[in-house]
Amino acid sequence: MSTDKEKIAIERLKTASDMSLATYGEPLIIAYSAGKDSEVLLELAKRSGIPFEVHHNLTTADAPQTMRLVHTVFKDLEQEGISCRIERPKMSMWQLIPHKGFPMTRRIRYCCQYFKEGGGKNRMVATGVRWAESVKRKKRGIFEDSHSNIEKKIVLMNDNDDKRRLFERCEMKAKTICNPIIDFTTDEVLDFYTNECKYHNPIYDLGFKRCGCIGCPLASKARIKEFEIFPNYKKMYIKTFDRMLEVRKQRGLETRLNWQTGQEVFDWWLSA
Ligand code: SF4
Repeated sequence: MSTDKEKIAIERLKTASDMSLATYGEPLIIAYSAGKDSEVLLELAKRSGIPFEVHHNLTTADAPQTMRLVHTVFKDLEQEGISCRIERPKMSMWQLIPHKGFPMTRRIRYCCQYFKEGGGKNRMVATGVRWAESVKRKKRGIFEDSHSNIEKKIVLMNDNDDKRRLFERCEMKAKTICNPIIDFTTDEVLDFYTNECKYHNPIYDLGFKRCGCIGCPLASKARIKEFEIFPNYKKMYIKTFDRMLEVRKQRGLETRLNWQTGQEVFDWWLSA
C-alpha cells in the first residue's frame, strides 16, 4: 500500500478522534471483528497516536479461531492501557433466528443489525468498511426488506456498500460512524495486513475469504466448505431451524416453501 494512503487514513482517524472528543467527550471506538479490514484499521489507529477504545460485537456464531484471536488481541491491548470491550447480545444467533421466524439471507441480514448495531450509542465509531467489498445487490427474493428503496434502508455498520461515506451519522442511536479505509482496495488491505499487522486470523489459512459468522449468507456457496470444516455449526443451524419451524407453527405462519424440517430449511438456505 502506498504510504500516501496510509497517511490519509491516519489523518482521517485523527479528524474522527477530534470529532469524538469534541462531540461526545469520549475517545473514538475502533470496531474490531478480528478480520483483515478491522486489523488494518486497528494498526492504523495505533500508528496515529490518538486515544481510542476497541469494541468487538459478539455474534455467537464466529469461528473459535476468531474468538481466540479477539481474546489474545484484547489482552495485549489492555496491557498497553487500551480499553477493550466485548459487546454481548441479549439473544444468541440460535435464539434470534427462531425469534425472527425466518433465516437471515443476503438481502435480509437482520442478524448484523441486531448483533453489530447495538453498541456505540452516543459515541463515534470507526469501522473497516470498504467500497471494494460492496455487496452486489440481487433481485428480490422470497423474503424482502420493508424498504425496496435503497435510500430508505437502514445502514448497517459493517455493510460494505458503494453508497457508504467517509463519515456517517445514525440519528436513531446518536452515533457517528467513520470509515477511514473506505477507499482501500482489497490488494492494499491484504498487503498491509500481511506485512504490517501483528495479528493474523488463522481462519484465512483455512481458505476463508472473509471473517464473519460461520454460515453467513454473504459467503454464498463458500458456506458448503465452511460447514465441512465446522460440522457442529451445521448441526446447530439445523436444530435452530427446527425450533424456528415450531415457532412459526405456534404463530400460525404458513411456510410458502412447505418446510417440514430444519434440514429442509437448511438445504433451501444454503442454495438461496
Ligand atoms: S456476519 Fe453475516 S451472519 Fe453474522 S451477523 Fe453479519 S450478516 Fe449476519
